[in-house]
Amino acid sequence: MLKSLRQKIKFLFFLLLPLWLIIFLLRKRKGIHILMYHSVRARNENRFPYIVTEKHFKIQLAALEKTGSCISIEDAVGSIRKRSSGDCSFVISFDDGYADNIDTAAKHLEEKSFPFTIFITRSFTDSGMNSFLAARHFNHIKKRKDITLGAHSLLHVNHNFLSKKEIKKDFQESKTFLSEITSKDIKYYAYTGGGYTDESLNHVLDFYEAAFKDRMDGKTDTDLRRIGRINIPHGLNSEKRFLTYLLSQAYIRLRSNE
Ligand SMILES: [Zn+2]
Repeated sequence: MLKSLRQKIKFLFFLLLPLWLIIFLLRKRKGIHILMYHSVRARNENRFPYIVTEKHFKIQLAALEKTGSCISIEDAVGSIRKRSSGDCSFVISFDDGYADNIDTAAKHLEEKSFPFTIFITRSFTDSGMNSFLAARHFNHIKKRKDITLGAHSLLHVNHNFLSKKEIKKDFQESKTFLSEITSKDIKYYAYTGGGYTDESLNHVLDFYEAAFKDRMDGKTDTDLRRIGRINIPHGLNSEKRFLTYLLSQAYIRLRSNE
């Protein structure tokens, strides 16, 4: 609670700075910002927190382009493993597997040659609902080297509500399912609701090269079993608001030569 209040104050303070200074301060950061999106749609009338409108998404990508480089999740994990960081960089990731990630967001990412990652929940894909990725999307994804797929559980249940046996099953089967439908090697996992247990941490690397949570905690963000990500909420409607928000967030800071 306090942390989020402190972040709000930081955000409001940074908002007073001119845009050039915000960009300058972000560019000085040697480290990685892993962004977590969900859905990107034309409209968000109900101000659903996990929907970013297409218009805002385009503004945000343009802002990222001015500030640093957009790298693949693979390169980010490589840097974290080596503990060495390049200049300010960003990773784009999406959770849950919304169809609009391909139908709406992908074209804007492709335009800028930004690689991206989608973490997919099996039950959402199996549901057959229009809002989630379907066979036609997977055919497209299969051909694309710049799209990485990761697992985001079988049933979208937080690991804190699963037994030890169910956690292992979740890791195993959400990986097998995705590699079977896409013929891709599934190397990454994102925790549902950011939730994990000791059992998750003990076993996740038996199945995956790295796993991600839904927040930055400032302590364990470079732990390959629970790498931190920055949630992107709705309403960041200008370059300045978006970059100010990033500046008010923690990032993956890696010191080289250590
Ligand atoms: Zn999710």
